[in-house]
Amino acid sequence: MSGAGAGTGAEPGADAGGGSFDWLPGTVVSASPQGARGRSLVVEVPGLRTARAGQHVDLRLTADDGYQATRSYSLSDVRGTSRSGAGPAAAAGPAAVPGPAAPPRFEITVERLDDGEVSPYLVDHAEPGDPIEVRGPIGGWFVWPPTEFDPDSAVHAVLPEPAGAPRPTESPVQLIGGGSGIAPLVAMVRARGLLPAGPEMRLLCSVRTPADRWFVDELDAADAQPGDAVSVRWAYTREAPADAVEPAGRLTRARLDALVVPAEQHPLVYVCGTNSFVEAIAGWLVDAGHDPTRVRTERFGGV
Ligand SMILES: Cc1cc2nc3c(=O)[nH]c(=O)nc-3n(C[C@H](O)[C@H](O)[C@H](O)COP(=O)(O)OP(=O)(O)OC[C@H]3O[C@@H](n4cnc5c(N)ncnc54)[C@H](O)[C@@H]3O)c2cc1C
Repeated sequence: MSGAGAGTGAEPGADAGGGSFDWLPGTVVSASPQGARGRSLVVEVPGLRTARAGQHVDLRLTADDGYQATRSYSLSDVRGTSRSGAGPAAAAGPAAVPGPAAPPRFEITVERLDDGEVSPYLVDHAEPGDPIEVRGPIGGWFVWPPTEFDPDSAVHAVLPEPAGAPRPTESPVQLIGGGSGIAPLVAMVRARGLLPAGPEMRLLCSVRTPADRWFVDELDAADAQPGDAVSVRWAYTREAPADAVEPAGRLTRARLDALVVPAEQHPLVYVCGTNSFVEAIAGWLVDAGHDPTRVRTERFGGV
């Protein structure tokens, strides 16, 4: 299977972010492993709009016999889609970020599902130079920095901001990812890193074992920066490292309460992972007093 062949399939009106929604031809420019079962792919797409951290794209792959498969993937790095951004770094290292004249590029990070159709191809077989079709970026709610709506807009009639809360752009940020659900949250951490100042951002990642962690060195470095700009915490469901603060086990409501920015601080919370992970975490957050309008979720499928 490859991204070659296939014409363009415009779907007017389907773009939540506005603008063109055509399939665009892209090219894989680098691939790097993430943990035991994941892989980051950097894809260059001439004409791609600037993306926001938290958005996703649709990828379309075409087999030699014309069979096509389409899947959605969150962007784990959007900085290379903006002419003022930097990254994602190509295989040659951070110096290889595209210059102002280079085509836009983004990164996705995929977990291999052994019984899956598309993810094993992306994790085990896609290589630099491979063509791949891209549609997007998509999404306007699960994004950070958050969209600031006009206080008089219809959005605020339906979703009023909680009384006493800071503006969304000034609120502390709590990111909670399960497994591959960390992908769009890393894009948010990276977007935060471009800002000279900004709200506190906490990342909580739930993974099965230490080998399932992604972006470890980069997140450790962000966590080690002086100040409270970004803090990172790992929770292990099946096997914890010897120096872990907590034993392995699924997150519980009590553990979650202890780890996240308290509800009284009105954090913007972004939760991403499988359907069951997101349902459980979002429910506990609301039970603990987090305002439902401040809990933003992205579901990747699965149970
Ligand atoms: C908005 C959005 C963003 C996404 N972003 C990412 C991302 O950044 N990284 C990433 O790895 N995946 C992401 N996904 C999931 C991705 O779209 C695919 O569903 C996933 O890669 C499986 O595709 P597949 O063809 O390998 O498996 P399929 O052949 O489609 O399914 C194989 C089996 O896996 C189950 N399954 C499907 N998705 C999941 C899942 N996420 N977790 C567990 N089981 C599942 C199916 O029910 C089926 O039993 C995202 C999904 C959505 C909707």
